[in-house]
Amino acid sequence: MAEMEILGAKISDYDMVETVCSAAALIDVGRQAGKGEPMLHQIVTLNAEILYKAQTDARLMEIINQAELVTPDGSGIVMAAQKLCNRQIERVTGIDLMQELCKQSAACGWQVYLLGAKPGVAEQAAQNLREQYNTNVCGWHDGYFKEDEQAWIIGEINEKKPDILFVGLGAPRQEFWIAENRSRLRVPLVIGVGGCFDVISGNLKRAPQIFQQMGVEWLWRLLKEPWRFGRMLALPKFMMLVNSQVKAKKRLAQANQRQMEDGRREKKLPQ
Ligand code: UDP
Repeated sequence: MAEMEILGAKISDYDMVETVCSAAALIDVGRQAGKGEPMLHQIVTLNAEILYKAQTDARLMEIINQAELVTPDGSGIVMAAQKLCNRQIERVTGIDLMQELCKQSAACGWQVYLLGAKPGVAEQAAQNLREQYNTNVCGWHDGYFKEDEQAWIIGEINEKKPDILFVGLGAPRQEFWIAENRSRLRVPLVIGVGGCFDVISGNLKRAPQIFQQMGVEWLWRLLKEPWRFGRMLALPKFMMLVNSQVKAKKRLAQANQRQMEDGRREKKLPQ
C-alpha cells in the first residue's frame, strides 16, 4: 500500500476491493498472532471533520496513526489527496466498507458484532444484515451504556468471539472508546462506523446516489439533520487549511527553484 500523508495523518490509497482484501488479511493475522487470544487490528474511516479536529487533538491524531488502516471516508479527504499529493483516490466510506465486509462474511466464515446506536437499532440492523447478506451476527448492544456496564459488554463481546467488531458510537467517540479498550478486546478487527447502524436498520435514509457521486453527501445530511451545521463548519475550515498548505508548498518549491538558478548563475560568473 502506498500511504499518503494528509495534514499529519497517514491515509491508505486502497480502493474498496483492496481495502476488503486488506481487512481479510488483518482478520487472518489477528486470529493467528494471538494463539487463541486474537490480536486486535483497527480500521479508521476518516473524514475531513475528524481530521480537522485531530489538528488540535494530539491524542486523536495518535489514535488515527496507530490504526492498521485509515480509509478516505469523505470527499474532503479525496479532494485533499488530489491537491496535496496529486493523487486520484477512491472514497472508501464506513457504510460501504461495512456492507462489503458483511456481504463477504458468510463466504469467509466471519462472525460480526454490532455495538452502538439507540436501543433496538443495532438489533434491527443485525436482522437486516442476516436477511440481505446471510451475515452471521453473533451479537449486538446499544451504544448508550453506563460506565459500570462496560466491563460486562466487553466480556460479552469476547465471549461471542466475533471476527469483526463494528463500533457505531459516532466519531471520534468510537475511536477513543476503541483506544481505551484495546487491551481488553479479544477481536481481530475493530472498525468505527459512526451512524451506519441507523442507515442499515432503515431508521435513517442515506443520501441518494446523485449526492454521493457529486461528493456532496454532507449536504444531504445537513438538510436531513440541520443540527449538524456547527459540526460541518469544520469542512470549509479543513479546505482552507489544505489550500494554505498547497500555497506554502508552491512557495517552497519556487524558493528552491530560485536558489538553484542563483547557484547556477554564480558558477558561470567569471572569477
Ligand atoms: N451514539 C451512541 N452512543 C452515544 C452517542 C451516539 O451509540 O453515546 C450513536 C448514535 O445513536 C448514532 C451514532 O452514534 O447511531 C452517531 O451517529 P453520527 O451520524 O452522529 O456519527 P458520524 O457518522 O457522524 O460519526
